[in-house]
Amino acid sequence: MQGHGWLMFKQLRKFFYLYILKRKYYRIGQCNACGRCCQKIYVKHKNVIQSEDEFEKLKLLHPFYTYLRVIDKDETGLVFECMNLDKETNKCKIHKHRPGICRRYPQEELFMMGGTLAEHCGYRLEPIISFDEIFQKISRKNKKI
Ligand code: SF4
Ligand code: SF4
Repeated sequence: MQGHGWLMFKQLRKFFYLYILKRKYYRIGQCNACGRCCQKIYVKHKNVIQSEDEFEKLKLLHPFYTYLRVIDKDETGLVFECMNLDKETNKCKIHKHRPGICRRYPQEELFMMGGTLAEHCGYRLEPIISFDEIFQKISRKNKKI
């Protein structure tokens, strides 16, 4: 798609993401099924989960949490891995029925938790409003003053 139609599509997409979905980033790329995002997971519910007691309560809220087991704890909180990951193939054993949270990964909330994308993840999160656009807006404002 090129030309006017493409520009229009981009503007509409931008509007939808910014003002309807309230997003700051586009998710670009595709999954290469490396399985890394299923192996070192922090869980956030209000705060990043710090104790097994907190986690036990959370399990009652959503079945996704019952797939996780604690493997470590670091300065951010408890670290989990998903028991549905086949460690030989790095594939999800319930791929067709995986929860929505897995289908939507990665989302920008990851950054708000202080997290980063798994190394070599096939996705990247790109700001909807580029640095250049922000810079231009600030320059225009400063000129008016
Ligand atoms: S359910 Fe599947 S996709 Fe979701 S975290 Fe577990 S292994 Fe990964
Ligand atoms: S880290 Fe990225 S590429 Fe790897 S399985 Fe997760 S979403 Fe797919």
